[in-house]
Amino acid sequence: MEVKKQMALKKIPTKASEEFRNFPMVPRVVYGKGSFNTLGDILMSKRKHSEAPMIYLVDDVFENTELIDRIPSIFCDQIILISAEEEPKTEQVDALVKMIVEKYTELPSGIIGIGGGTLLDLAKAVAIMLTNKGSASEYQGWDLVNKQSIYHVGIPTISGTGAEVSRTTVLMGPEKKLGINSDFTTFDQVLLDPELTKGVPKDQWFYTGMDCYIHCIESLNGTFLNAFSQSYGEKSLALCKEVFLEDIPESESREKLMMASWHGGMSIAYSQVGVAHAMSYGLGYVLGVKHGIGNCLVFQYLEEFYPEGVMIFNKMLKRHEIVLPKGICANLTTSEMNTMISVAISMAPLWENALGENWKSIITPEKLEAIYRKI
Ligand code: NAD
Ligand code: ZN
Repeated sequence: MEVKKQMALKKIPTKASEEFRNFPMVPRVVYGKGSFNTLGDILMSKRKHSEAPMIYLVDDVFENTELIDRIPSIFCDQIILISAEEEPKTEQVDALVKMIVEKYTELPSGIIGIGGGTLLDLAKAVAIMLTNKGSASEYQGWDLVNKQSIYHVGIPTISGTGAEVSRTTVLMGPEKKLGINSDFTTFDQVLLDPELTKGVPKDQWFYTGMDCYIHCIESLNGTFLNAFSQSYGEKSLALCKEVFLEDIPESESREKLMMASWHGGMSIAYSQVGVAHAMSYGLGYVLGVKHGIGNCLVFQYLEEFYPEGVMIFNKMLKRHEIVLPKGICANLTTSEMNTMISVAISMAPLWENALGENWKSIITPEKLEAIYRKI
């Protein structure tokens, strides 16, 4: 009798997607210093035949470095060097896909992204668009991809975004900056070799590392938090604190930040990011400010939402003598400011995670403008 009563009270979801997300994880991962040398063997078993190449999309910061010589390029494989100066665009994805389709008679055996979030996202998007018709911009959103992507591998060379583990690829499109969120986006294989992050300039190390730190703060302080997200978020946050606040040897620091990135990405997979990310999207869309630094620029002024997180962030800034640029929004026109605000406000799930269902009563355009004007 008692049991029946309970069953009637609890809403039982009928579809997995209604209440529980059934999301994919990276099925295979190699970890360790020097593990890049295993790439040739890993790819060999995935080669369809000699006419179906492996296409390596590599950050052009590695041009003329020994990493290029270590890429296991054989048969008709191609290494394409790409600048990470600007964040990936849908038209860039379309152009890469067109080039690959025109050059080869067969679809590639695999796409391998080697670089930071920019190159990882490009590799994910190209792998999807080689099997799905039309432009990448048609798939920006949630679960719009219908067909299995080409086998794709992610090899991060800078740590923090969590792009190596996420089910999205964030692209700037003609109308919006939005991810292709799908079950086919996630990498089939990830290779985590901390030695690859050796040459990262200090400022960039900090900005991309803070992306991870901010993922943790926004996930752990969000209303969507659950034990799954919390378990990854807490581990990632602890690693970030070791890396950015303690004296640890550089090689250990590289290893820990690489794993912090992984856990931070896992944490937001089952929750959401928050205020800094929503506002950073606005900065990125209107001014082309990159994700990592954009998050930092916003986060420093979010003590109202994340008091302890901002206090620790300021400690980290000081400890590493990072000086954030100022006056970024000083010369914005009213129309640009309005676009920035509307891009930020359109990120409803992020606001709901940060502030709960009634977020619209807390976040007004005036409030966002006041924060943007400080940046
Ligand atoms: P990035 O890929 O933009 O690279 C930043 C800079 O670091 C570039 O100049 C690059 O050349 C340089 N760099 C990278 N590795 C280096 C190395 N080993 N040595 C020297 N220089 C190196 O940086 P990021 O912060 O990792 O990525 C930002 C991108 O990631 C944005 O486009 C953002 O939208 C995306 N992102 C995606 C997700 C996701 O889940 N898909 C999550 C967060 C961010
Ligand atoms: Zn982020």
